[in-house]
Amino acid sequence: MNIKEYLRPDSLQQANELLSENGAVIIGGGAFMHLGDLEIEKAIDLQNLGLHYVEENNEFIEIGAMTTLRELEMNSIINKSFSGILSKAAASIMGVQVRNIATIGGSIYGKYGFSDLLTALLALNAQVELYNAGLMSLESYLESSMDKDIILKVRISKGVSKAYFECFKKVSADFSVLNTAAAIVKGKLRICVGARPARVRLAKGAMSFLNIIDSTNTAAEMAGILASEEIQFGSDIRASAEYRKELCRTLVKRCVLEVLQ
Ligand SMILES: Cc1cc2nc3c(=O)[nH]c(=O)nc-3n(C[C@H](O)[C@H](O)[C@H](O)COP(=O)(O)OP(=O)(O)OC[C@H]3O[C@@H](n4cnc5c(N)ncnc54)[C@H](O)[C@@H]3O)c2cc1C
Repeated sequence: MNIKEYLRPDSLQQANELLSENGAVIIGGGAFMHLGDLEIEKAIDLQNLGLHYVEENNEFIEIGAMTTLRELEMNSIINKSFSGILSKAAASIMGVQVRNIATIGGSIYGKYGFSDLLTALLALNAQVELYNAGLMSLESYLESSMDKDIILKVRISKGVSKAYFECFKKVSADFSVLNTAAAIVKGKLRICVGARPARVRLAKGAMSFLNIIDSTNTAAEMAGILASEEIQFGSDIRASAEYRKELCRTLVKRCVLEVLQ
């Protein structure tokens, strides 16, 4: 990565104005960007804008975009909320050195197919707030193709009664072969499958089926089968599509059992 001009704005308005200029990009932790052979005209560092925080009120937990994955792993509010799945998902990512610099904002903006964090966040029905586009569900954000914007924070409702995240990696410092998460949000079950290896998806068929069944074991078994049938899988150097499909059955069943028990 080669940066021609490095800028640290003191206000969001200034950051937004700079971002509208040709060749300007936001830098989060820079962990993923620096892997590429990028030529960056203007790098806008958000460090001075107070976006590094975890806050809790009666309804929500809010996480500033510059909060690192290590903070998600270690923060006491995040540890005790949402059955700890954000901390678990963050802790599964690479080593501490990477987690110390990679941010939640960069993880969301990248919309990476391999992401462990997106799978946990989507199961929790997280919302994302952007400077220009405002507040929207993570689900809508992932499906959108937006103009350049600044992610300000992630907001998660405290209406999550139970959640579980599971990922399967061949070695700990590798991308997941598959990851899954389930959560009960305001009484409704949500199931997500990521690292397919494409971007995370909600298993909507399995979710709607499960919302009308009450035997835990049958429900979990059926959820695994339905999710593995409705989700599309691909092959890459880590695993074949067929292998991922089988894995999906098992991991989804495990997640659903955990949240329904
Ligand atoms: C070697 C390596 C292995 C990894 N393995 C995994 C893994 O197994 N699982 C996993 O889930 N993740 C993994 N990650 C990804 C990591 O979790 C982060 O998602 C990634 O590093 C991006 O975060 P960042 O803060 O470094 O973003 P950056 O690299 O700084 O930026 C990434 C993109 O987001 C944009 N951006 C950053 N912040 C904002 C913002 N606030 N608003 C708007 N745009 C923004 C940047 O312009 C850029 O396009 C890995 C990363 C690395 C470096």
